[in-house]
Order: sequence, then structure tokens, then C-alpha cells
Amino acid sequence: MNSKNKVFSVSLPKNPSISMNVIPGHFTTNHFHLSHYLDLDNLKTNATLAKKVAKELAEPYLVSTLIDTIVCMEGTELIGAYLAEELSKKGTSAINTGRDIYVIKPMSNVHRQLTFRSNIQELVTNHRVLLLVSSISSGTTLRTALELLNYYGANLVGISALFNSLHDDLDIGQEIHYLFTPSDIPEYRMYRIKDCELCKTGRKLDAIIIQGGYTTL
Ligand SMILES: [Zn+2]
Repeated sequence: MNSKNKVFSVSLPKNPSISMNVIPGHFTTNHFHLSHYLDLDNLKTNATLAKKVAKELAEPYLVSTLIDTIVCMEGTELIGAYLAEELSKKGTSAINTGRDIYVIKPMSNVHRQLTFRSNIQELVTNHRVLLLVSSISSGTTLRTALELLNYYGANLVGISALFNSLHDDLDIGQEIHYLFTPSDIPEYRMYRIKDCELCKTGRKLDAIIIQGGYTTL
């Protein structure tokens, strides 16, 4: 990574102890070019932070939404576990108090399609599922996850993300709860590859964003 890409940190206004590192640059995914890389690893792997994140994410569901199973995508299992704990712990108006909440993640089969192993399918089919994802940028990963849940007959009751850059242009009929949005990141831009303003200025790519991280070029 180029040394002029100065990392900075963005904190959650309502709970500044939750923050993510942001690296400016010129990044590519399969479909988009981005002006920043969001390092959400710390939030997903540091137990103290993951617990704080879970507390924030639990809030919209606490009093109103029964949840049987949390399906974790993109390395969010630690947060998912704390989220289950948060939702099921004692609270005067907490609807899931004392209930069993399961935390699972899909696997990729040999065709690189997402599936659930036979023994955990029953935790999805006809169950109230909360979908937990790390980052929603173009919505491709989210769509894939929704197809997966639909295929297994899940009753989707919520979607939560650490970062969400979708407005309401994705016809999913479900509100997305999230911590961070692009408006938290100064000058954050996402371009279709052919329209990328950074490419137009002749700027070389810094890295490829892959599932769970990036590979520098
Ligand atoms: Zn570009």
C-alpha cells in the first residue's frame, strides 16, 4: 500500500468507543472501484469491540422482534454470538429473554455456491432469521445471502450490517439496520468500473478488495 494513503479512524457518534480504520486509495472489487477501504476486522475479531457492536446492533430488535437464528456472513460470527447473548438476556421489555437463539454461517460448496449443511438447515427453514453482514456496498453479497435464505425457506425478520451504502434502491422489503454509512467517511466514493473518476485521472489501483480483506497490487 502506498505510504501516502494515510489511515484515519471513524468513530460511531453515539458510541465513540466503536471505531473503524479507513484507508484512502483506489480499490477495486469485482464490480466497483472505491476511494476508501474500510477495515472492519477489528470490530469483528476484538472480543471487547465485538460485544459493544452487538449491543448497538441489538437495539432495534430488543422489544419487538422474535429471533430464532442469526445467520452470519463475512466473518461476523463473533458479533453474532454476542448479539444472541444481548437479545436473549434479561430485560423488562426484551422479547427474546431466555429464548434459545442459534448462530450459524453458510458454507461454500464445490461450485462456490453458499449452502447450509444438512444438519443446520432446520435452524433456517421456517425460522425467524436475522441476517448479519459486515459491509453492504453494491448489494451483491446481500442479494446472494437473501437468495440463500429464501431458498431454505427462512422467515427473514431483520438485516443488520456494520456498514451500509445502499439507500433504498434495493427492493428487499426489509429495513437494513447499520452502524456506519458513506456519509460518515469524508469523500467516500463508489464508482462503476467504467465510470471511475480515479481511473480517469490515471491513478493506478492500490489493491483488490476480497472477502475478508484486500490484496495489494
Ligand atoms: Zn478506478
